[in-house]
Amino acid sequence: MSTAAQSVSATYDTVLRRNPGELEFHQAAKEVLDSLAPVVERHPEYLDAAILERICEPERQIIFRVPWVDDAGRVQLNRGFRVQYNSALGPYKGGLRFHPSVRLGTIKFLGFEQIFKNALTGLPIGGGKGGSDFDPKGKSDAEVMRFCQSFMTELHRHIGAETDVPAGDIGVGGREIGYLFGQYKRLGNRYESGVLTGKSPAWGGSLARTEATGYGTVIFAREMLATRNASFDGARVIVSGSGNVAIYAIEKVQQFGGTVVAVSDSSGYVYDPDGIDLDLLKQIKEIERGRIADYVVRRGGRAELRTTGKVWDVAREPGGVKVALPCATQNELDEADVRSLIAGGCLAVAEGANMPCTPAAVNLLHESDILFAPGKAANAGGVATSALEMQQNASRDTWTFEHTADRLEQIMINVHSQCKETAEEYGAPGNYVLGANIAGFVRVADAMLALGVI
Ligand code: GLU
Repeated sequence: MSTAAQSVSATYDTVLRRNPGELEFHQAAKEVLDSLAPVVERHPEYLDAAILERICEPERQIIFRVPWVDDAGRVQLNRGFRVQYNSALGPYKGGLRFHPSVRLGTIKFLGFEQIFKNALTGLPIGGGKGGSDFDPKGKSDAEVMRFCQSFMTELHRHIGAETDVPAGDIGVGGREIGYLFGQYKRLGNRYESGVLTGKSPAWGGSLARTEATGYGTVIFAREMLATRNASFDGARVIVSGSGNVAIYAIEKVQQFGGTVVAVSDSSGYVYDPDGIDLDLLKQIKEIERGRIADYVVRRGGRAELRTTGKVWDVAREPGGVKVALPCATQNELDEADVRSLIAGGCLAVAEGANMPCTPAAVNLLHESDILFAPGKAANAGGVATSALEMQQNASRDTWTFEHTADRLEQIMINVHSQCKETAEEYGAPGNYVLGANIAGFVRVADAMLALGVI
């Protein structure tokens, strides 16, 4: 083994030893570290400064108690997290996830991914992530508000427009950001708009932020398809999930002439061979906070709800699938699902969610020559537009939808070309995983070197 490969493997051993039981974090760290031996080979200065080991260790991890009172007057308790991972390039930046599955290891995997994703945008943002095991599903607005107020009562002392700027993720959308900002503003008696992103455009948010993650993923996939002279025009597409990322991925696919024939939620998936009715889906998910089962009922017999199997099985239906966009959650697409995609003639997979493909799925995608865009590149449009929101807040300005969406498109085109060119430079053309990991890492590593041992 070369010295570089030995250092990479020693760093991974340290990650395992220091973070026992945090399987998702181990998975995310391994995926990045596996790409880095050729980089540290070329840059021994990274090894001398222990950049690999330092980049895997969060600068700060905060865990706190979040008590709140439900509508029946009972005291409830959740756990809150904020992992301030790396601030070499700018204030910590990354979303908050509210979901019952959230553990420290979940937030660490997401925060670690965020470092490289944010670096790929080319904008001055560091990496962080937070959240709670609180489940907003089935809670009243008043309960969500009381939870958010309690969560922010602790979090506010750790964040700030120049320090750490949270936003949304699974379970945290415009409603939650509103309640969180309200409490932050009240505690500090300051209207510090830039402390959170994903705000409503009615009070300091950016136009196009809601659409940005889904739009960006599809723009990235379009760029990737173009390298094989293919496009979304006339394509059958499977999208998993039915939340914010999925909805705006569907919208962009439709704008590009494709047909999304399936979506999912935790209860199953919908097969809608004529193409998803997006207005109906938005009404049910964004306004009524309903389920895809309601969509099927109101679609009048044109769509089918399936509660066994997985959304990727749709690839085996007549017509197959050209593009798959996993937009739900981590490890939702495995090796068996890739076999379905291969059987359906799939050309490209782009991750709208964070780490939705298992490592075995990614290996098989690479072997089978299906184009594969990892989330840290393909879904960077959300956080990039958050950085544009920070710019607008700092200059007390608001941009038009068109201007913001144009900037987003340009950023995604740049992220794509960086990944593609870096993969080529390192002798692995078409390997977007390698390209994204190396390009993101080098930007952060160079900043860390310049800032000294901190
Ligand atoms: N949660 C999103 C992500 O995974 C967005 C974070 C942000 O806007 O800060 O990148």
